[in-house]
Amino acid sequence: MKKKKVWISDLTHTAQGISANTFPLGASYVAVYAKKELKDFCDIKLFRFPSDLSKSLNEELPDMLCFSNFSWNFEIAYKYADLVKKKNPNVVTVFGGPNFPTNEKEKLEFLKKRTAIDFYIELEGELAFVDLTKCLIENNFEISKIKKNGKKILNTCYVAENELVHGPIERIQNINIIPSPYLDGILDEFFNYPLIPMIETTRGCPFSCSFCCDGLSTKNQVCRFEPSRIEEELYYIAKRIKNIDELIITDLNFAMYKQDIPTAKVIQKIQEEYKYPKIIGAAAGKNMPKRTIEVANLIKGWVTGASLQSTNEEVLKSIKRSNISTKAYQELIEHSNNSKGDQKSQSEIILGLPSDGKETHYESIRFGVDNNVNSLRMFQAIMLIGTEMASKEYREKYGLKTMFRTIPGCLGNYKIFEKDHSIAEIEEIIISSNTLSKKEYLECRIMNLFVETFYNNSIFEEIFEMLRALKISPFDCLLFMKENKELYSKKINEIIENFTFQTTEDLYETFEEANAYVLSPEIINKYVGGEMGVNELLLNRALLFEEFDGICDLIFESTYSVIENKGIMTENIKNYLSDLKRFITLRKKNPLNKTDEIISESFNYDFEEIRKAKYEINPNSITKLENSIKFSFFHEKKQIDHISNQVELYSNHAVGLGKLLQQSDLQLIFRHFKKI
Ligand code: SF4
Repeated sequence: MKKKKVWISDLTHTAQGISANTFPLGASYVAVYAKKELKDFCDIKLFRFPSDLSKSLNEELPDMLCFSNFSWNFEIAYKYADLVKKKNPNVVTVFGGPNFPTNEKEKLEFLKKRTAIDFYIELEGELAFVDLTKCLIENNFEISKIKKNGKKILNTCYVAENELVHGPIERIQNINIIPSPYLDGILDEFFNYPLIPMIETTRGCPFSCSFCCDGLSTKNQVCRFEPSRIEEELYYIAKRIKNIDELIITDLNFAMYKQDIPTAKVIQKIQEEYKYPKIIGAAAGKNMPKRTIEVANLIKGWVTGASLQSTNEEVLKSIKRSNISTKAYQELIEHSNNSKGDQKSQSEIILGLPSDGKETHYESIRFGVDNNVNSLRMFQAIMLIGTEMASKEYREKYGLKTMFRTIPGCLGNYKIFEKDHSIAEIEEIIISSNTLSKKEYLECRIMNLFVETFYNNSIFEEIFEMLRALKISPFDCLLFMKENKELYSKKINEIIENFTFQTTEDLYETFEEANAYVLSPEIINKYVGGEMGVNELLLNRALLFEEFDGICDLIFESTYSVIENKGIMTENIKNYLSDLKRFITLRKKNPLNKTDEIISESFNYDFEEIRKAKYEINPNSITKLENSIKFSFFHEKKQIDHISNQVELYSNHAVGLGKLLQQSDLQLIFRHFKKI
């Protein structure tokens, strides 16, 4: 029998740079498992980039065309499926992934609207894909034959005679039956692109958060890959990586289990041997802070912390979530911040969840800031298809008002079968509720921009540490900046106005309205050109960072006022602030340019000593030096290489600088200094 051509795509948008800049790991698992099980029956190809898929489609059509479905790539995948089906309805189209309803009625509606999808695979794809392909082989790849018989296929549903046909749901008991896509070599080609490798050591999450696709009971069991295989994969990646410093561990609760310790030890060894990875992205587990600390002690470049989403009990109850205890959170953050490897801590907060309001949102930010977390990632609540929060009951109960918008970076004109097609991904975000007005939502968003710009990633840690030493919450300073617009320079004012406009104007009542608007040719070009539809938080954070003198003036004036308002301003503090401003500017202004330049200046304070105290300095307790000291500010060789890799990695992105500022460890980027 002639081998069937099976193409599996996990597409990323590329018109505004590579939007999902990671290896297509999930699709590669399905591909390698199918290769193992179906041996001589199929010839499997993997695609990440639309241009590669278009090129292959110009040469031939496959027998089976499959797509991973995420909120950021569904429309582009569907466009391909639709056009291929129009060319040849016998090509079998299969979709799989979490961006799919869980309710039977909604599944039927979804598939009836998208007739170019023949079969939809839910949950894990490997077993289902093989079962489906075997069924197709048995039925000579005749879709109608399978549908007519109403054949039940594992984890797969389809529409036959206007009814939904659903096979039994099954999860893989031993995930080690799936070969490693890295060791198989199927991912080798992706080392040639600016993509970040991902590795999965466990699957599943024992928790049940209502806003999350992984909170479903069917995903609660946690399975683990063999340690020897994880080790081999990590070495495989380290030996082949080119000009990329990052690694993502896709586990949903990394460092929560004792078996994560040996994984961390392997990473530690690899880091020593290969100087890779320098940055590790992994979501830490929600409990077991001691284990998280142990893992964080072993590996470098992992920004640890605990996701909060909200700290308010009512909000947590509404989303069926419980956070780790305050004591455990404090321990975790304190440890991360004090670890020897300059580790940093991070938490996430979502605005607009059920029962959330302006005060509760601020309370959550204040909690993170007052517990010294290094970065607070700010998210909007997104209605993900297939989550409990997206159900009609949830929406009604909490009065969730949503609007639709294009997903930043996920749109463009793509050539398919020699014709240009405008495609955009649309998402639904919560913009108000019974407890959050639209006006309050906007105020919270501006606060989020201030947190990202001034607080996150140690941008102005020297000021916030000094405030802490003076027993003033850095949150008070952030709030002061937000509330006192008269302090903004003309340029900062413009950026904030722009941010406000982008946050409120590019929203539509329905999916159809948003789609119809963006898909007109001139509008999509405006999006592609960056005039519209960018991630406003990242974009405006980058714009503010480029206005370094302006934001420096703003934070110093605000700090000054907050201290004065508390009635504790002294000459010592004034003197210290004056030197500190020059010091911060020399270290942090334009850190990506002229990296080989050395600048020197004299100061009245010994900043080497102050750095040893991690900048937690009460200026009243130190005296101005009698003789000033000269410091030089410079980038080390390894920093120059790292900056060049990060600039390259994010230069292809719609909001490159914003993404770089958010994803990088800025301590590796800001200038070092020493006495001369
Ligand atoms: S703990 Fe994280 S991955 Fe698990 S359900 Fe909650 S949000 Fe989702």
